[in-house]
Amino acid sequence: MTTTRRLSLLKPTGHLTLGNYLGALRPMAAGQDGADCFFGVADLHALTVPHDPREVRGLIRELATLLLAVGLDDSTLFVQSRVPAHAQLAYLLECTAYTGELNRMIQFREKGRDQPSTRVSLYTYPALMAADILLYEPSQVPVGDDQRQHVELTRDLAMRFNHAYGPVFTVPEITTPAAGARVMDLGDPTAKMGKSGAAAAGAIHVLDSPDVVKRKIARAVTDSETGPGAVRADREAKPGVTNLLDILAACGGSADGIATYGALKKAVTDAVVAELEPVRKRYGDLADDAAHVTKVFAAGAARCREVTAPVLAAAEAAIGLA
Ligand code: AMP
Repeated sequence: MTTTRRLSLLKPTGHLTLGNYLGALRPMAAGQDGADCFFGVADLHALTVPHDPREVRGLIRELATLLLAVGLDDSTLFVQSRVPAHAQLAYLLECTAYTGELNRMIQFREKGRDQPSTRVSLYTYPALMAADILLYEPSQVPVGDDQRQHVELTRDLAMRFNHAYGPVFTVPEITTPAAGARVMDLGDPTAKMGKSGAAAAGAIHVLDSPDVVKRKIARAVTDSETGPGAVRADREAKPGVTNLLDILAACGGSADGIATYGALKKAVTDAVVAELEPVRKRYGDLADDAAHVTKVFAAGAARCREVTAPVLAAAEAAIGLA
């Protein structure tokens, strides 16, 4: 029996949030058993919008260290640009995709909207994402709503390529991940807690100190209801309180016996700090041992180059190169 291959890439475009941790990193760490996991820092994807090279370099390093700090030691960890096959296959897939289908990609339309100039890479990014996936031949890709269209395109490109040039790619099935915690912004609980953009003000970062966590939660928006029963979940009428209750539960806490928003915020703070402190501590240790992080990622990239080489070679041969 072959082991399941899992693959996930995270973009180094901001400091990772509690949302990233509960929605992506923690499940990634929990799912390592019995699977052959590849987890990457999608640095090439961080260049599709205006960027500062120094900042991006720092965020790549931070994310790489964080992947180790959350306990992904049993996985193959890599930085995307260190595995040139990603960019090489992306080009072959750009030669397979049509402008009509890239024009329809919602993320390109949304991110490119009202911009005086848009990088070509923002437009072609779905071809790179398709390469990211197809190189590792996963049989399934669990995907949230925001990336579904891109994975559908990945399947279309793989099928079109296979049909035109021969059976090179494994066409992955799209699966819906088990509904995880969706963490909302503390200042605007109707918006997702995001790592970049205006919403970052209401975001708890994985590496925030306990004091900062406490301050951010103290400022979290609730509502003006008082009295017994005010602490209850109601996503429509009480989005702020509901978000705090969700965070509390996701971090292993309980709202039993909590009657005031002050007590709720205290419980949420304690639970979040208890969840994040071990990660922050390990991150600190790893940041002091930069050579170890470098070594782990060098070994990971070497394995990725090995695993992806036959897929790239087959695609090149089929399309008429070499
Ligand atoms: P992003 O930071 O938007 O690129 O998201 C990377 C991954 O982190 C997503 O695919 C989600 O799995 C997870 N994630 C990001 N933000 C949240 C959030 N607010 N709540 C839950 N999961 C999240």
